[in-house]
Amino acid sequence: MKKHNFSAGPCILPKEVLLKSSEAVMDLNGSGLSLIEISHRSKDFVDIMEKARSLALELLGLEGKGYKALFLQGGASTQFLMVALNLLEKRAGYLNTGTWSKKAIKEAKIFDDIYEVASSENANYNYIPKGYEIPTEYDYFHCTSNNTIYGTQIKQFPDCPIPMVCDMSSDIFSRQIDYSKFDLIYAGAQKNMGPAGTTLVIVKEDILGKVSRHIPSMMDYKVHINKSSMFNTPPVFAVYTSMLTLEWLKNLGGIAAIEEENEKKARLIYSEIDLNPLFKGFAAKEDRSFMNATFNLTNDNLKETFDDMCLEAGINGINGHRSVGGYRASMYNALPYESVQVLVEVMSELETKA
Ligand SMILES: *Cc1c(COP(=O)(O)O)cnc(C)c1O
Repeated sequence: MKKHNFSAGPCILPKEVLLKSSEAVMDLNGSGLSLIEISHRSKDFVDIMEKARSLALELLGLEGKGYKALFLQGGASTQFLMVALNLLEKRAGYLNTGTWSKKAIKEAKIFDDIYEVASSENANYNYIPKGYEIPTEYDYFHCTSNNTIYGTQIKQFPDCPIPMVCDMSSDIFSRQIDYSKFDLIYAGAQKNMGPAGTTLVIVKEDILGKVSRHIPSMMDYKVHINKSSMFNTPPVFAVYTSMLTLEWLKNLGGIAAIEEENEKKARLIYSEIDLNPLFKGFAAKEDRSFMNATFNLTNDNLKETFDDMCLEAGINGINGHRSVGGYRASMYNALPYESVQVLVEVMSELETKA
């Protein structure tokens, strides 16, 4: 039976990407050697790394604007620390919109006091704070573009008077934003780009080199930039698969084209959530994520019935995160519209049964 993969991460990837990457594990470009058994210094792999780096910048509209793209390891979670190590001298401002923001704040606090510019913790993070001031004397401002767990998304980014850093793990490449508003963007690959194992970092070079501390080599963006993202052995499989996804996206028509698809999917599920009395959305309407739709049953007694119906329809991965409960349908770039249709059909069928 066809499965509909709504997993929050690691998540669905395009079929053709999975096919090509599995072929390359057996034989890369007809070389008779596997992608994962050749030197990362070989021309074949250097070309892959360079293509992945340039595609990332191209798709985001950041080519020729002083940015470098890096494929690092340690997940987005390592970036929580690395950002602070490289940029935090006196104080930084953080927008607290959920679990991931909070984790970023915790790591930065190792170095100094962190100023929470605004927080929605008092409402279990069901909305995005707005109208806050960003102090001009701080080193940088950090925000999380999409809150994977709560299903909220920043729609309007502030005009930031200081360098703006953003964790875009769960919505990078999903929508058109002026990406040049940001000085540093990071994203774990496994949400919208590839398998776990690599983290994309896009950094504007001129914000680096301003802190007085000694930065350990593996934690130093400059070291990775100077070595073209090959300071140490890169995660070759994750980089290759990410490159294939970026190529797939480019061939589709880039971010503008996928954004249209993502909007269609989001509109479909949210209209069902709003019209069907058996469901209730978790996030404030104006802040709803187009990637992760969070919702609850209005009558918990229907849980078993609904879960069984989902199972029968081949729907996978819609259980909500334990800190929110209920359900979460993650609709990343590679999720077909048809899968959302199937979920919505099951939701409306529940209404006729109940
Ligand atoms: C999943 C996620 C992370 C953590 O990513 P890892 O690669 O597992 O460290 C960080 N931020 C956001 C927004 C996420 O969705």
